[in-house]
Amino acid sequence: MIPVTKPFLPPIDEYTQLLNGIWDRSWLTNMGPLANKLESQLEDYLGVKDLLFVTNGTIALQFAIKALELNGEVITTPFSFVATASSIVWEGCTPIFVDIDRYSLNIDPSKIEAAITPKTSAILATHVYGNPCDVIAIQNIADKYNLKVIYDGAHAFGVKVHGKSIFNFGDVTTCSTHATKLYHTIEGGFVVSKHKVLIEKMTSMRNFGFDGPVQFKELGINGKNSEFHAAMGLVNLKHMEAIHQKRKQLSDLYDLMLNNSNITKPLWNSKSKSNFAYYPIIFKTEALLLKVKKELEANEIYGRRYFYPSLAKSLPYVDHSDLKVTDDIARRVFCLPFHLGLIESDIKYITSIIKLSLSLESQPFNNI
Ligand SMILES: *Cc1c(COP(=O)(O)O)cnc(C)c1O
Repeated sequence: MIPVTKPFLPPIDEYTQLLNGIWDRSWLTNMGPLANKLESQLEDYLGVKDLLFVTNGTIALQFAIKALELNGEVITTPFSFVATASSIVWEGCTPIFVDIDRYSLNIDPSKIEAAITPKTSAILATHVYGNPCDVIAIQNIADKYNLKVIYDGAHAFGVKVHGKSIFNFGDVTTCSTHATKLYHTIEGGFVVSKHKVLIEKMTSMRNFGFDGPVQFKELGINGKNSEFHAAMGLVNLKHMEAIHQKRKQLSDLYDLMLNNSNITKPLWNSKSKSNFAYYPIIFKTEALLLKVKKELEANEIYGRRYFYPSLAKSLPYVDHSDLKVTDDIARRVFCLPFHLGLIESDIKYITSIIKLSLSLESQPFNNI
């Protein structure tokens, strides 16, 4: 059986070594030494100034929306994981979905202005599959209309654009470090912001709004993460370079094997390089996708229709709308198995099934 994803696990000794320290200190959570160390190591690794380690990537989004005091309408992408849109609703705002660009699969900046109303307070965009949004165009629009910008960077760990970390753009960028992501802390996430006041606010929010032992500064919640999760993060960070190399090799092999097969891939931002977080492919038609998916499943190979259906069509708590490019792409995009459990022969096997399935499809009937 080949699953779509499989979490990376480091050599267990590296983890237990850090567990020994936790036992010695009996300090399990509430921003202990490992959590603090992880924050500073992530800041160095990513090249960002201020980063807060939180419970998960969803609460990271909620912190961003809350700290920026957003209200009314938030312009967002319908082509993302549910948490991008649900966080907006959870914080009492209304998501306004804007169609995506058919090449990058990110929100289409040229369609944002038409969606702005007097109620718009922000743009919340996802760097889909880690591919950077057009951050310059989005910031220009935000400046013109005095809007805040949040990026959901859940897929974009380690990505740089215009020579710096993607997490440095926008007012706040969030990331998830869930077990299924490129870099993980089992459960977890973080927020990054260049605004010191927002970082201070979110620091307090993360800890029930406390400002010292008996004083409160803000409305807060419990958004802390534990020493056990931080330990996994510290160990995994040491392996990121090797993980990146291995994933690049797997991705290159997929590219090679799928060459000339009528399959396309999203177009990566020309000012950036892939972090090899996912391997999405786009079929010519939904029928072809379904045919290949079925064929793969018959061989116990599982990909994922990520993201399908469009958030603008599937959430019971938002008004549904048709968005031409999103609806079309969501029906035709498919993420192939992509993780460190794969070996070369797996990829050859997977791609041969795909190619066979596609070639049978294109063969005229009277040729057989
Ligand atoms: C995974 C993911 C999230 C949510 O992160 P969690 O850590 O699982 O809460 C949010 N947005 C996107 C785009 C994601 O892929």
